[in-house]
Amino acid sequence: MLEVTKCAPQLAIMQLGDAYNNFFKGLAKYPTARKKGHDDRFSLSNDQFAIKGKSIRIPSLGWVRIKELLRFDGKIMLATISKRGGKWFVSMAVEMQEVALPAKKTGKSVGIDLGITDLLVLSDGTKIKAPKPLGRYLRKLRTLNKNLNRTKKGSKNREKAKTKLSRLHYKIRCIRQDSLHQITTKLVKEFDVIAIEDLNVKGMVKNRRLSRAISDLGFFEFERQLIYKTDEQGKTVKSVGRLYPSSKTCSNYNHILGKDELTLKMRDWICPVCQVSHNRDLNASINILNNATVILTAA
Ligand SMILES: [Zn+2]
Repeated sequence: MLEVTKCAPQLAIMQLGDAYNNFFKGLAKYPTARKKGHDDRFSLSNDQFAIKGKSIRIPSLGWVRIKELLRFDGKIMLATISKRGGKWFVSMAVEMQEVALPAKKTGKSVGIDLGITDLLVLSDGTKIKAPKPLGRYLRKLRTLNKNLNRTKKGSKNREKAKTKLSRLHYKIRCIRQDSLHQITTKLVKEFDVIAIEDLNVKGMVKNRRLSRAISDLGFFEFERQLIYKTDEQGKTVKSVGRLYPSSKTCSNYNHILGKDELTLKMRDWICPVCQVSHNRDLNASINILNNATVILTAA
């Protein structure tokens, strides 16, 4: 309490109040305490800090340099200071008068199959590769984890090893976020209607062979970005039901393959009914485009 600004607990107490309210309304689980050193952050209300150019005044710290200028004009409401991967960040909520204009309509629709080999296969045949940062850094990650486990609890070396590990996690996350943002922005710009599969990602992650590849691609995050960006731009995301067999259905004749006729390994197949040859992912993306009906919106 003596080390930190008195402003830090003020908003925390108000946020705890919100958490209890949400709990009593049945909207959230019972609030739990956050651990020190784990997702460290605190918030300041707008009367508790000041911004001047590339500096922010934080109570009891004084003026602190920031890397970027605030890009938005409007009333600053709140600042949250957080620590991620050994670095400090401030995020600010700004109340703005103008609302961004929706993007131009293109009249184009697309179906997307989320695969493991290529991240995305579009129904127009485009393949978009995404970096899989976790795969690339897996060895380094294991080494750093081992190093951490060799250190004594509470020691200085343990702190250092922890910071190194969290920096790497942060780096992996940044690479993934950056590529997903580029992809989703491009898709929302290019298409008015985007059809995707309602992924049972949790079920898929239970399958060990697939789990690492899937979490590495960030499917959940992909869907989240797609939904909020289309909402902002006046466009639409649709999905097909979880049980719809997008891979096993022939997009030419709507013939559905039998239980064991299409294994995960089979990338190409020939429809036994109409003899059309299909690429697994492209066929799936066409089916998704033609059969998506549920409209997804941000909560
Ligand atoms: Zn067919």
